[in-house]
Amino acid sequence: MDRIDIKSLPFEELKKEMEGLGEKAFRAKQLYDWMHVKLAGSFEEMTNLSKELRTRLSERYDYTALNQVEVQESRIDGTRKYLFELHDGNVIESVWMKYKHGNSVCISSQVGCRMGCRFCASTLDGLERNLSPAEMLDQIYAITRQTGERVSNVVVMGTGEPLDNYENLCVFLRMLTDENGLHISQRNVTVSTCGLVPNMYRLADEKLQITLALSLHAATDEKRKSLMPIANRFCIAELMDACDYYFSKTGRRITFEYSLVGGVNDTDEDAERLSKLAGPRCCHINLIPVNPIKEREYVQAEAKRIAAFKNKLEKNRIACTIRREMGRDIDGACGQLRRRHMSAHKEADGVKDVFHNGHREKA
Ligand code: SAH
Repeated sequence: MDRIDIKSLPFEELKKEMEGLGEKAFRAKQLYDWMHVKLAGSFEEMTNLSKELRTRLSERYDYTALNQVEVQESRIDGTRKYLFELHDGNVIESVWMKYKHGNSVCISSQVGCRMGCRFCASTLDGLERNLSPAEMLDQIYAITRQTGERVSNVVVMGTGEPLDNYENLCVFLRMLTDENGLHISQRNVTVSTCGLVPNMYRLADEKLQITLALSLHAATDEKRKSLMPIANRFCIAELMDACDYYFSKTGRRITFEYSLVGGVNDTDEDAERLSKLAGPRCCHINLIPVNPIKEREYVQAEAKRIAAFKNKLEKNRIACTIRREMGRDIDGACGQLRRRHMSAHKEADGVKDVFHNGHREKA
């Protein structure tokens, strides 16, 4: 049987575990505090627990602590991209952004992704595995430890489709916003989905106050299908119904993400169609100039097209912003830092193969 990952246990479950070990109730509080407030990197750091208990805990439970492999800092705006290694050798990336209103972290929810969006680098090698709640939390914890600054906003917009890792995502969201932990306000958390309709309904019923962002990227089913395979499963009308349900249950304004791809979805007609979808809804449109990846031919819409598109939306009284491109000078789009790291490793392995006459040895 797999060992329990203690950092993925919500407070109530941790309490039961500690009772099972014959420990007093306040131990669970102490332990939770060490993991989720003091952000301890290991059991050894928990100095007000007896050595005997720490040994017992480490014999019984796994302790997730991400290993920082690389950090790149943008000279333009101070954005930092982190590459973390997981216990099984997989790597994931997270981004730290400084805004006037506070620090924001963009986390990954899976290792790789199986959604196959054509313009996205995270999906090129498919899905490796889901991240556990602790692995999602620890991206924020590790960055908080490293920067020494509080994180006030979290966006689940890195590698992976969060609603394809639904159970772990929900545990993560509750622990992140739990008053016994970092207690980040639910209103400062955004989950972005390519549109897994059934799980959008489930999320609406979770009684959470988080923002839902839908990656729309096209205003007709035909165009959407050319960009996102998921559009073959759910049509735009179904997505809009799910968004309306989300709003009716949570009262939270929906964000529509729309990546502008040159010559594909950036015409005035596209803007008109998008206005028709957005007009009747309490929503906000986030325009993202597409970040070209070398594996695909897509190009960014021209600057004047982007401005014209935004103007059109504004004329139609649609709330919209163009996403500021943070950290342009460091491996841009989602998943690119990880891909560069992995291909560098493959090359290094190749050199080793020759050196060992083809007998592969893992470092
Ligand atoms: N799976 C989630 C989170 C993915 S990334 C989702 O689909 O929403 C967050 C956003 O960045 C999504 O809107 C995604 O479509 C977009 N995105 C991914 N690669 C991009 C690129 N190269 N340029 C612009 N936007 C991109």
